[in-house]
Amino acid sequence: STPMASEKEAALAATPPDSDSPTIFDKIIKKEIPSTVVYEDDKFQWKFFIHTRTRAACLFLYFLESRLFLHVNMPTVQKIFKCVLAFRDIQPQGPTHILVIPKVRDGLTGLSKAEERHIDILGRLLYTAKLVAKQEGLDDGYRVVINDGPKGCQSVYHIHVHVIGGRQMNWPPG
Ligand code: C5P
Repeated sequence: STPMASEKEAALAATPPDSDSPTIFDKIIKKEIPSTVVYEDDKFQWKFFIHTRTRAACLFLYFLESRLFLHVNMPTVQKIFKCVLAFRDIQPQGPTHILVIPKVRDGLTGLSKAEERHIDILGRLLYTAKLVAKQEGLDDGYRVVINDGPKGCQSVYHIHVHVIGGRQMNWPPG
C-alpha cells in the first residue's frame, strides 16, 4: 500500500488515549530512538521571570540555567528552558517533511485538547514551523498540518505540527 494509505490505517488503528500515556515521541525526545533533529529550542524564556524582583535574580537564574540545568531531565525545567523539538518524519510526504513537537506534552495529546495554558506552546510550535521552513530553504511555500483524532488521520497522540515542502502541494488535501 502507499505510505498515505498505511498512515491512514495507522491513524484509524491508533486509540486516542484518555490519559497522558506515553507515545513514540517520548522516546524521540529522550533520544532513546534515533531521529534527525533539525531544530531544538534552548531559548531562555524571560517571561517566566516576570514576577521576580530584580534583574540580578534573573541573571543569577540564567547563570544556573546555563551551568547546571542544561542536562537535567525534570519536566518543569524542560518546559521552561527547552520546549520545542523538530525532527525529520520517518515517512516523508515530500522532499522536506519535519515534525515540530513540544518536549513536554502537558496533556496536549492533540489540538482538540488545547487549553488556555497551552497558548504559549501552540504559538511556539507554529513559530518553529516557520523557522525550520526557512532553514530548509522552502522559500516558495510549504504546507503546515495538524492532524487531529481518527478522522483527522492522527496516529501519534502527542501534538505535532507537520511542515511539508519541496514540491507543489494540492488542494483540497486528501
Ligand atoms: O499526524 P500523524 O499523527 O498521523 O503523524 C504522525 C507522524 O509521525 C507520521 O507522519 C509518521 O510518519 C511520524 N513518525 C515518525 N517517527 C516515528 C513514528 C511516527 O516520524 N517513530
